[in-house]
This record gives sequence, structure tokens and C-alpha cells, in this order.
Amino acid sequence: MLVKEWIKNVIIPEENERYLQNGKDFIDDDALHTALHNNQKPDKEAIRAIIAKSLRIEALSIDETAKLLHVTDPELWQEINEAALAIKHKVYDNRIVFFAPLYCSNLCVNNCAYCGFREENTDEKRRILTIDEVIKETRYVLDNGHKRLIMVYGEHPKSDVNYMVDTIKAVYSVERDAPVSGRLTSIRRVNVNAAPMSIGDLRKLKEAGIGTYQVFQETYHKETYRTVHPPHTLKGNYNWRLYALHRAQEAGIDDVAIGVLFGLYDWRYEVLGLVAHAAELENRFGVGPHTVSVPRLTPASGSLLSTKSEYLVNDEDFKKLVAVIRLALPYPGLIITAREKPDIKREIIKLGCTQTDASTKIGIGAYQECNPESAAESEQFTIGDSRSLDEIIYELAQMGMIASFCTAGYRCGRTGDTIMGMLKHCVEGKYCKLNAVLTYREYLDDYASPETKALGEKIIEQEIGEIKNQEFFMKNKGKIFNEFMKNYESIKKGSRDIYI
Ligand code: SAM
Ligand code: SF4
Repeated sequence: MLVKEWIKNVIIPEENERYLQNGKDFIDDDALHTALHNNQKPDKEAIRAIIAKSLRIEALSIDETAKLLHVTDPELWQEINEAALAIKHKVYDNRIVFFAPLYCSNLCVNNCAYCGFREENTDEKRRILTIDEVIKETRYVLDNGHKRLIMVYGEHPKSDVNYMVDTIKAVYSVERDAPVSGRLTSIRRVNVNAAPMSIGDLRKLKEAGIGTYQVFQETYHKETYRTVHPPHTLKGNYNWRLYALHRAQEAGIDDVAIGVLFGLYDWRYEVLGLVAHAAELENRFGVGPHTVSVPRLTPASGSLLSTKSEYLVNDEDFKKLVAVIRLALPYPGLIITAREKPDIKREIIKLGCTQTDASTKIGIGAYQECNPESAAESEQFTIGDSRSLDEIIYELAQMGMIASFCTAGYRCGRTGDTIMGMLKHCVEGKYCKLNAVLTYREYLDDYASPETKALGEKIIEQEIGEIKNQEFFMKNKGKIFNEFMKNYESIKKGSRDIYI
């Protein structure tokens, strides 16, 4: 089919309009700007009351979030930062979940001004992975120790939903012997970052067994959206994107992920956009976003905007916005990626981040590619952290944190409103703690370098000690604790992929 013909059939008008209320979407530019304007000088007591509300694991309103965004007092920022970490600990404990991105194709029909994949960028070497290449990339990622992938696609008829389904199936089919222990391993959860789709196409993704479906709005500010996404392109349709995750919910994908590309417009406004989006999902479907991502604009080939945008966010403001998101939305996961350099990543992790990637390569076929220069020609943007998974796990262990590869949640039905309910009541974090330890044990035995293993053993010992001291695990004569220890011992002896 001709590309132009394909484009005409992507957006289904009825599926684009059905969610509007009185013809309007849920992002009211004027209301968000007014909230920012009216909350510019918050007093200390108001801020402390808002922090206390977040610490009770209650989502904040737009006005409350706007107040936090305007804090100038360093002492209050210190309190906000401490609260961000405390909230993360309450909901998710001290674990960081790891994943690797798998870029499948850089063919794209859109022309987003910030992205190296945009159609008019002639510097980009175009490539789409064959199924065989997807399998090879998966082997490489598995050999590094990953269990979770986020698969990323440009928008193009050649990488349509059928291609996505085929590539996802290919990933799930790969099995490898772990390099240290020789135990059989495979990818246990595939998440997807791809353009908005129709409900019918999203059902196909659901059937392929995806975990989370991610669509970043990029900017909630409509005028900026129009400027950076040419209106005649598919991505130029603001509402088709804004309601992508509504359609996903209808298609049965109840783990959905939101995000903003920080640097396109005023970061304070964008944080309010995220809060409004989360509230809308919660109100409509009874379940908010599973994760929130905070990609920050980084240099991309052929994109002046990526280096010259007047809204580029500096490190100080970036830390502020992460902390405020953690307070405003206490229960979704919070993702920081390899776009960020190690120093800033380290600090962000202390502000309540729950997930990150490692051993990341984003060129198409880059994991297998022997020639790094040629892989770089097919990248979407430049990355700031190319450290291996083992290096980052070692660093986290030094910070007293545990890496998790847990994928239990969606495999035992803890998704959507079930998982959100558990997160709100700080129960899911408890299971996560157990599953983090179990998957960490697997990592240490299957992949860890001797240094990481030595340090990791201490972390595990500490974690098991903490588990033993928590009433939640010890009630009913230690039923949960005993089950956990049985699994732990069994993993030590060589069993794999058992979880609570
Ligand atoms: N084509 C799909 C779409 O647009 O939804 C897939 C997304 S794209 C491959 C993944 C994300 O990368 C985008 O949603 C955007 O937020 C981010 N991105 C694009 N250009 C970027 C840049 N220069 N720096 C950092 N992130 C960027
Ligand atoms: Fe294409 Fe997505 Fe890049 Fe836009 S952000 S050019 S839609 S790959």
C-alpha cells in the first residue's frame, strides 16, 4: 500500500472524538496558566501542608502542584526532596527496576522538530530490523542480564501493528543460557513505546502480551504542539495522541504510561499537564498511569531545536520537576533514562525515581552492530549514560539500593486498578520488595561480576533482615516470609522465574 494511502486510514475520527466533553478535551491551557499565575507566592505553611498530604500518599490538585512548582526557599526544597524519597520508599521501597530499550525501526512518516527519526532528516540512515535481527538484538540484551524490554518504533506502514506483534513474539521466543550459571533465561516483559493507534490495533498489542503501553504527549501546550509537529502529519493531531491511552484502556491494556519531552515548553506548565492527564485517566477508568517518564531534550541529528530550544531545562530545574512530580503523583512508577548523564541520574534516583535503563544502545541494530559509528547514524538522539547494567547495579548497591527485575505484577494479575489500589495502600511495594530480592538473587548468580556479587550479597542479607523485621511479612506465623524463603532457597539451588 502506498504510504500516503496508509496515512489516511490511521486516525479513526469516531475514536478521536468520543472522549471529548462538550467538544473539549481535558487540557485547558488557560486554566493551567491561571493556576501557575495564581500560585506564585505560596506561604511556608501551605507548602508544608501539601508535603504532608503527599506523604499520606494522596495525589495533589493542580493548584497544590502549582504552589510546589513556585517554591524558592532552599529549606523548603530540601523538605520537598526528602519527602520525594520518603514517598518512594513508602510505595516502592528502595528498589530500582531495570529495563533495556530495543529500537526496531527509524522509518517515520512524521516530522517532529526535535527528533532524529523525522522524515525530512536526510542525515539519518534508515533501517528496520528483520525478525532475525530482532532475535539477535534480544540475545545480546539477555546476555547482559535484562528481563524487561521497551520496544520502540517510528510511525510507518512498514512498522505497523502487525510488524510490532511479529517482533514482540520474536523477543518472547528467545531463550539463552546465562553467562555465569548457564541457567536458561528469557525476556519476561515487553513494554511498547509507539505512536497512537486505533482500539482494534491496540487489542492486537494486548494479545501479543505487552506489559505497558507508553505514549508521551511531548508537550501539553497546544500552540507549542502545533509548532513542533507539522499539522498535516499524523502526529500533528493533538487529540489523537492525547486520547491514545484512553483507547488503550478500552482495548484492555490497563498499564499505560504518560510522559513529557521536557525542553519544548515551560517545564512548570508541563508538570501541570501531566497531573491533569493522570487525573483524567483516574476519573475515567479508575486507574491512573502505571508510570510517568521525564525525557529531557538531548541533541538529535538534523534538529536545531534539540540544542537551541528556548525552553531547555537546566539540571537544577530538572531535579525540581522530578521531585514535584513524585509528590503530586505518589503512586505511578517514575522513569529516568540513559538520556541523562550518570551524575544527574544518581541525584534523580534519590528523588523518587523507580525505574531506569542500562547498557543502553539506541541505534537500530546497535546491540549487535560491530561498528559504533554506523550504529550512531541511525540514532534518534544522543545518550548520556552508556554504562553497563553491572556497573549501574554495583553503584546502586553502594548507595544501599537493590536492583529489581521483577515482572510478577502483570503475570499474576496485579495490573491496572488492582496494582494501583495496592500501591495506594503501600501493599504492592511490599511484594515488590520480595520479588526484587528473588530476581536480584537470580542476577547475582547468573550475570554479576565478582565485585558486584560480593557487594550484592551484603545487600541481600540486609534486605532479608528487613523483611524478617516487618510485621506484614511475619503475620499468620510468618506465612509470607516462609513462602518467600522457600522460593529464595529454591532459586539459590537453580530454579528460575518464581515469584510471589
Ligand atoms: N514514534 C513514536 C512516537 O512518537 O510516539 C515513538 C516514540 S519516539 C521513538 C520515543 C520518544 O523519544 C518520543 O516520544 C520523544 O519523547 C523522545 N524523543 C524524541 N526526540 C528526542 C530528543 N531529541 N531528545 C530526547 N528525547 C527525544
Ligand atoms: Fe517519528 Fe516518533 Fe520521532 Fe516523531 S518522535 S519523528 S513520530 S519517531
